[in-house]
Amino acid sequence: MAATANPHKLMEIAAILGSAVELLPRPADLGEVVEDGETLESNARLKAVSVCEHTGQAAVADDTGLEVTALGGLPGVKSARYAGEHAEDADNRRKLLAELEDAADRSARFRTVAVVAFPDGRELLAEGTRTGIIAVAPRGRGGFGYDPVFVPDGGGGRTFAEMPPDEKNAVSHRGRAFRALAAQLGR
Ligand code: IMP
Repeated sequence: MAATANPHKLMEIAAILGSAVELLPRPADLGEVVEDGETLESNARLKAVSVCEHTGQAAVADDTGLEVTALGGLPGVKSARYAGEHAEDADNRRKLLAELEDAADRSARFRTVAVVAFPDGRELLAEGTRTGIIAVAPRGRGGFGYDPVFVPDGGGGRTFAEMPPDEKNAVSHRGRAFRALAAQLGR
């Protein structure tokens, strides 16, 4: 059972896991989980456990943050609400680019923590990171969130939003986290 209500994430997770795991979509009648944890790990656990308790089935969730060196690791766990409580992706990207206008160091990393919660209370956890730099302006139409402003190392200078989905998944924080999780599941 997928605990994400984000269709972009769901597509990525399903593509990364392929046929290794049968992934059912999150039930539509489930209310939103308040992500008020202090860490990516606690938010991922909150989402996975809440869907697992509600459905009685094993549930998988991830929480992801963009950690920017010049901002001391921000926006990090607050990435979704960086520009305010109801911020859209474009607002968050704009705020980030404004904060980095004069920054000499534009290095950053995405970090994903993925958790599987089982009905008997067991859990599995895996982490994946991808280093890169923040572009000076958004580029590309693919992906979601901060993808148009994140240039992963080793990608020839393209942003994640300029890469086909398969290429992003092959090198991304989420790809790494979920492949590590699948390995723990013996898939
Ligand atoms: P969450 O993990 O859904 O809480 O996402 C936190 C924030 O990071 C949101 O603003 C997402 O849009 C953004 N985000 C999560 N994963 C990615 C990604 O793979 N690429 C770009 N932005 C992402």
